[in-house]
Amino acid sequence: MHHRHLYIDGAWTTSTSRTDIDVIEPATEKVIGSAPGGTPEDVDTAVYAARRAFTGWAGTPARHRAAYLRTVADGIERRGPELAELITREVGTPIGFARMAQVGLAALAFRTAAEVGESYPYEQHQAPSLLIREPFGVVGAITPWNYPLYQVAAKAAYALAAGNTVVLKPSELAPLSVFALTGIIDEAGLPAGVFNLVSGVGAVVGQALAAHPDVDFLSFTGSTEVGKTVSRAAAGTVKRVGLELGGKSPAVLLPDAEVSEVVPRAVAAAFLNNGQTCCALTRLVVPRARKEEVERAAARAAGAMRVGDPLLPATQLGPLVSAGQRDRVRRHIQRAQGQGATLITGGAEPLQDLPHGYYVRPTVLSDVTTAMDAQHEEIFGPVLVIECYDDEDEAVTLANATPYGLAAAVWSADPDRALAVARRIQAGQVEINGGGFNPRAPFGGYKQSGNGREHGVLGLEEFLEVKAVQL
Ligand code: NAD
Repeated sequence: MHHRHLYIDGAWTTSTSRTDIDVIEPATEKVIGSAPGGTPEDVDTAVYAARRAFTGWAGTPARHRAAYLRTVADGIERRGPELAELITREVGTPIGFARMAQVGLAALAFRTAAEVGESYPYEQHQAPSLLIREPFGVVGAITPWNYPLYQVAAKAAYALAAGNTVVLKPSELAPLSVFALTGIIDEAGLPAGVFNLVSGVGAVVGQALAAHPDVDFLSFTGSTEVGKTVSRAAAGTVKRVGLELGGKSPAVLLPDAEVSEVVPRAVAAAFLNNGQTCCALTRLVVPRARKEEVERAAARAAGAMRVGDPLLPATQLGPLVSAGQRDRVRRHIQRAQGQGATLITGGAEPLQDLPHGYYVRPTVLSDVTTAMDAQHEEIFGPVLVIECYDDEDEAVTLANATPYGLAAAVWSADPDRALAVARRIQAGQVEINGGGFNPRAPFGGYKQSGNGREHGVLGLEEFLEVKAVQL
């Protein structure tokens, strides 16, 4: 798992830096692999390869591009168990969830992008104009570590389906599965230069990609803070920038919701991928009259979670991705208590039976108000906060009372009432009563959660420029 080469112009290529970045397994704190720390010169080489490949790829019929993407999806599925184990080892995701979400959703995104891309009407008459949608050119993609394959799929599969070429910089914390994916893309036989991988740190490789004059579109997923930095770096070239950023998403329990059914599901949703999910529903907004009942149910559900080795099938909560992330989350818990939040279960203390690994106790905090950081700052760990409202207007006000707007949930015995509340919530996705996953539904944020949409038709259109020809 020690990768020595970048993937540029259809070949595994030596980086100009010759320094490698170690990858640490969060469950054992041991080095399990490494990836090259790329340089701005590597980015130049990759961008020019992508530029040279662009005309040919854009001119390839959409159904042929789709066929390549399906071959990649087949490859991900064929190597599914190996990829899931890799992601569990580099991220800490419990293995069952890694198989289903980390790998399954990545394959599904490649397949869905193929379908959407081959059936899309790239030319439409709007008399007296002909609207032509065409690829931008070279797409620079920067991705986070929490869903390393799925986040790449959301960008690369759709950018490629639309006829763009891609230079990808994955997170330095979890690049190993992306190297495996690149092997699958290589085996699929995409023309040289259509997909390129330059690993390395954000401030070097990511910065160079964002500022590069020959990158036409910069697609970024990560924290809001770095999203702002990337936007500034890209501004000099006026390139299009797509941002998929952080979240602090609410689950609103209306007074008629069944607490004993809803709260365990809400706790599980908040702690998906050990709480390291951008759209995790980490705020439970509940009627004040039901507070004690909710606290008891949340304490039971969180307290019953099996924390431990993420490679064991029974584990529900693994370690956080890094020591830095663990320490940051623990500080958040302590600060919330210092600001007046009530600890219902969990806490910042280490788990005695897990001396190694970056574990944090599944934690529930109550009596959280808008005056506390834990109400509106993304914690990105297994920490659920409970906020109370007195009437529906206040529930909506609280739900919207953060700088973010990525996701939300509403629970009610009355679906119409839930929908009416959903309409008032500022978020890119709202689920009602645990509503099902739709791989074609657009995903993205309001407010500081971002400015774009990924997946489905809108996810394809992100990567298409519009030309109006007046006839
Ligand atoms: P991050 O912002 O630290 O890093 C994201 C990527 O940006 C990494 O590849 C990193 O190397 C790179 N980067 C860092 N500094 C850079 C710079 N100066 N210039 C260019 N690139 C730079 O985020 P993370 O810790 O990897 O991921 C967690 C964050 O991502 C959370 O905030 C989470 O909510 C967010 N996220 C959002 C979505 C979404 O779809 N909205 C999905 C997943 C994760």
